[in-house]
Amino acid sequence: MFFRSPVGTEEERNSGQIWPSKWTDATGFLNSKAPNYGYGIHTGADLNLNLPGNWDADKLAPVYSIGDGVVTYAQLWPNRNYWGNIIVIEHGIVDGKPLFSRYAHVANIRVRPGDVVKTGQQISQVGNGEGLFSYHLHFDISITTILRNQPQNWPAPSSNRNKALVKEHYVDPEQWLRSPHVVNSLPDVIGEGSLSGDSSDDKSTPVNTTPSLPTWHVLAAEVTIYQKPRTSSEKSGTLGRGKQVFIGAEGVRNENMQWGRIVGGTFDGDWVAIRKEEPRESYLSTNPPQD
Ligand SMILES: [Zn+2]
Repeated sequence: MFFRSPVGTEEERNSGQIWPSKWTDATGFLNSKAPNYGYGIHTGADLNLNLPGNWDADKLAPVYSIGDGVVTYAQLWPNRNYWGNIIVIEHGIVDGKPLFSRYAHVANIRVRPGDVVKTGQQISQVGNGEGLFSYHLHFDISITTILRNQPQNWPAPSSNRNKALVKEHYVDPEQWLRSPHVVNSLPDVIGEGSLSGDSSDDKSTPVNTTPSLPTWHVLAAEVTIYQKPRTSSEKSGTLGRGKQVFIGAEGVRNENMQWGRIVGGTFDGDWVAIRKEEPRESYLSTNPPQD
């Protein structure tokens, strides 16, 4: 079987285009970005869609899982100078080896650790690593288990030793996706057995019990994040207009406001006022702000 491109139109992905037309890998596997010795060895692809007159055509383009699997990591990497959001998916044993895929710098996170994902399921949108980079998808394929416990794994600086490490743990994603593969087994899901192939109408196989959360966008110039759903509680920080969060539990009313609890990222578990009950004024919306 074939795995699919993490970007591109449905037609491009289903027809097996690697990479889809007009998408390019700006860096390349094993590139050391010489002479920047400290940068390290590139572990995968930097996927960009640069169209004439629209340098950032990949901005917020959908990002899809390359195959069936289980999410092992999905959050903002705590050190803000490196990755931004990282998503890692475990695909089980493929060609006799573990297989993990990594999607980094993404604009938001639509899955949570433990979620079962299917080939072509949207997991995110192309981002810029919280402003660290120009918009692109950093994408890796690993054939060891290193990303399970080190989702941020990055062999640096550039050296022969680190190049050997990249060759040990990663493959050229372009070549790999172009070749057919044998899925020996899918990853175990806690409390269940192994996933079986197409389980869409088999009630005995595990289903995704954590629905993907909608993305909420900050509409106000700035919203304050609180540790409890009330403005007198301790503040955790602020989010500026256009920032995105996931809200798990909406519906707490307090101080004439509707509050939501943030899931994932820096403010995981904290609270934000979504809107005023009276008069109607919204601080956050599931639609991006209109400029
Ligand atoms: Zn990269």
